[in-house]
Amino acid sequence: RESQAKKFIRQHMDPDSYPNIGSSYCNQMMRRRNMTKGRCKPVNTFVHEPLVDVQAVCFQEKVTCKDGQSDCYQSSSSMSITDCRLTNGSKYPNCAYRTSQKKRHIIVACNGNPYVPVHFDASV
Ligand code: 5GP
Repeated sequence: RESQAKKFIRQHMDPDSYPNIGSSYCNQMMRRRNMTKGRCKPVNTFVHEPLVDVQAVCFQEKVTCKDGQSDCYQSSSSMSITDCRLTNGSKYPNCAYRTSQKKRHIIVACNGNPYVPVHFDASV
């Protein structure tokens, strides 16, 4: 079974395609990374930074996760991200996404040994 760490990489890491991101980026990537199977995942963020820089966030500023309980970590630098959001009229299995590029601080939850990102919480 896929580890939480590998799942984070599959769902959120794309260091290499920036800055060549077009309007169909999310439509292609959400499908390619298996987030349109069974249902259309409604919101998902891809991070266009080296994996080591995203893993390092687990040792940066500790913040509260959106669930109000667990510990999350906020990146000290702003990072290049792409926000993918399902469009209003989109109907499974035709998952249609809006692609928005941003520079934001990312917030992730970390777990395990090694202590690595396992959940993408938000960008601010
Ligand atoms: P909305 O903006 O629709 O109210 O809520 C979407 C929420 O999902 C935002 O708070 C945003 O921070 C969060 N979000 C963004 N990307 C991801 C992601 O990849 N995974 C999860 N679980 N939440 C995300």
